[in-house]
This record gives sequence, structure tokens and C-alpha cells, in this order.
Amino acid sequence: MYKAPRGTSDILPQEQAYWKYVEGKAASLCQLYGYQLLTTPIFEDSQLFAPTVAGGQIAVDKEMYIFEDRSGQKLALRAEGTAPVCRAYLEHGLFNLPQPVKLYYLGPAFRYERPQAGRYRQHHQFGYEAIGDADPALDAEVIEMARRFFLSLGLAGFSFQLNSIGCNLCQPKYIEALRRHYSSYTAHLCPDCKARLLRNPLRLLDCKKASCQKIAETAPRITEYLCPECQAHFQSVQQYLEALGIPFQLNYRLVRGLDYYTRTVFEVGPREEGAQSALGGGGRYDNLIEQLGGKPTPAVGFAAGIERIILNLKRQKIAIPALSKPTAFIAYLGEGAKIRAIKLASELRQSGIAVIAATGAKSLKGQLRQADSLSASYAIIIGEREVETQSAVLRDMITNKQETVPLAEIVSSLKQNKKT
Ligand code: AMP
Repeated sequence: MYKAPRGTSDILPQEQAYWKYVEGKAASLCQLYGYQLLTTPIFEDSQLFAPTVAGGQIAVDKEMYIFEDRSGQKLALRAEGTAPVCRAYLEHGLFNLPQPVKLYYLGPAFRYERPQAGRYRQHHQFGYEAIGDADPALDAEVIEMARRFFLSLGLAGFSFQLNSIGCNLCQPKYIEALRRHYSSYTAHLCPDCKARLLRNPLRLLDCKKASCQKIAETAPRITEYLCPECQAHFQSVQQYLEALGIPFQLNYRLVRGLDYYTRTVFEVGPREEGAQSALGGGGRYDNLIEQLGGKPTPAVGFAAGIERIILNLKRQKIAIPALSKPTAFIAYLGEGAKIRAIKLASELRQSGIAVIAATGAKSLKGQLRQADSLSASYAIIIGEREVETQSAVLRDMITNKQETVPLAEIVSSLKQNKKT
């Protein structure tokens, strides 16, 4: 028996209400802030992700799905959403538009990770990017937008952590200081951190191991190393957030996994914290577009994991609007009635009424059970007598009351009852 590959899951019909809810809120939010939808391919040139994953949380060689197609081209399943958006920005000359260009996306991301609660090999992200403007007001807007998104979903108790990781000028000096600090503790570092010390020292700060956390506590802080421009930018972001009434905590150890981040970084934590808990995160990535072959272009964005959002909606028992149910289920008894039922189903659909027509040769009881399990508001029953009298029995599936209605009046009758 086949199973969905490890770390992936089917989204069954009963789960879809959550997805529709989250995706609907995401789309309304983006409309409200003037972000337009961009859909990019599921796979890209594998090199596209090199700057976004190198040294970050995702290791290109170990954690990406990379494959060669039949022509020998090296492709990668989308590992995250920002690089493809920037690729499209460059490819379609969106830099010629008035800046910033504001885009959002919704779709799957693939990472070969060890699956656990809240961490999958295929997950879905909603993200948005504002490209082409360095104004710290945009950082604040991106954060405010994330907050409004979680509030609109009805989630409570989430919190924002904020930091600045500087720029090309000040970050290297800080990294040097960090290296110096950690070098005197190499014997106490976990194996991952030993590798980080060589390849990506910034990430040393967010190691979850208790022994490494202790070393992080006494580590130099980036805020002491920011150049005057980064300092001013960080101050402005905080000032705008305060003006907008957005609570946040400064966390000098928040670094984000990816190489291309500059200046502002932020993360959204849920009410119930856990190992794999971040609802979303984002920040500025002023170097990425240049790394992808464009002119130096500042940008800022955010991405959230939809599975984790749904996990939290369930934990907080947030009521989700139900998906629409069929108005009627058409049951029949006998071959003559079947033709009438098929025709009636077609006519009702023509009038915009959602119906499910029975098939096969089930008993009436079996057909009504099916109508019930599909949550149809009505069952329309046609037997021999109804064929003769050009009518149908209309049964309210909640009250079980039924009446005989002339065929010509079924549409108006269903519409009058307002359950259509
Ligand atoms: P990232 O691209 O790593 O910044 O991830 C953005 C958001 O996507 C995270 O905050 C999580 O909510 C979610 N996420 C990242 N990786 C996974 C994963 N493997 N499984 C489920 N959700 C994930």
C-alpha cells in the first residue's frame, strides 16, 4: 500500500475549511496593504537558492530537494519563497516600476528535514515582500501587517521579537568579535556549533543547547557594533512600531537562519512555545537582489508557515467558518425516476443550486444516509408516484419534515427556504 512520503501530508476535505480560512485572511490582508499575488514555479534552478540557504538553517546539499531533469539541468524544489520572488522581480524588470514593488505568495516549500510536530518536508508558506525601498517605515509596515494577520485569524498571545543584524559594514566586525568570544569555548560547543563557528558564526547565538546558550549569554551584542546608519535605522523601526502601538521585545540573540538578512530581523512566537514553534519570521535582505545578479536593491519581507498557524488555531479552539455544504441530495427509486433525477440535478445546478445526485441502486435508507453524511440541507426524493405526478418529495434533513412539491416549483421552494 502506498503512503504519502515521510514528512508530507494530504489535506483532507474536513481540513480544507482551515486552509480556506487562512488563505482568505492572507489575501484580504494583502489587498488591504497593496500587495499583489505572485505565483512562481515549484522548482527553480538550484543555484537560485544558494545565497538564501548557504550557511543558514537549510543546508543546500543536505536539506534541499535537488535533482537533474532529463536535459541534465540541476533543479531544486522551492525551499523558501523569497529568492523566487526576487528572481521574478529581476526577470520581469519590475525594478522599472515605481518602487517599492509589493508582492505576496502562497505555496508549498520543501526541505529535507527530520519530520516532527510542526516540521515537515513539505510545508506551506504565506509570505510577502516589499522590494526597492530602504525606508525603515517599510520594516514597521511589514511587522504591523504580520500582527494584523495573526489578529485577523483570531490568534491570541503571540509575540514579536526584534533585532538588527547590521549591514556589510558593521556585521563583519561583529562576526569577528563573536568568533573571538566563541573560540575560547570551542571544547564546550556542540558539534553543530563547532561547524557554525567556521561557517556561520551568527547562528551560534540561537543554538538551543543549554551549554551553548550559556556561552551566548556572555557573547558580545550586535547592538554595540552597529554602524551609525544601521543604528539610526533600528531606532526608527522601533520608533514607528511604538507609534503604531505594536508591542515587541528586543532580542539581541535573534539572528534568523539565512545569509541574506541585513538590519531588521523579527520573529513571531506563538502563545504556547515549543521547539519548532515560530509562526513566522522576516526581515530586511538588502543584499539578496545584488547577489542574484541585480543592482543593489533594498527589500524587506515576512513569511509564515500555514501548518503551524492551523496547529495554533486548533490549540486555541478558534471557530472557523464551515465550508458551504450541498443544498440538496437527489434520491430516486427505480429506473424511470433515475432519469427524472438526473435531469432535475442538471436543472437545479443550472439555477446555481448545489446538488449531489445519487447513483447506483442503493435503498432509500442508504441514499438518505448518504445525504446526511454529506450534510445536505434537503433530500429530494423521486419515486414512481412522483414521476407520474410530475413532483418530488422535499425532505428537510434537519427537521425530517417532508412535503410533496410540483417539479416546476422545486427551485423556488429551495430558494425560498434560504438554505441554498
Ligand atoms: P523560514 O523560511 O525558515 O523563515 O520559515 C518561515 C516559516 O515557515 C517559519 O516561521 C515556520 O512557521 C514555517 N516553517 C519553516 N520550516 C518549516 C517546516 N519544515 N515545516 C513546517 N513549517 C515550517
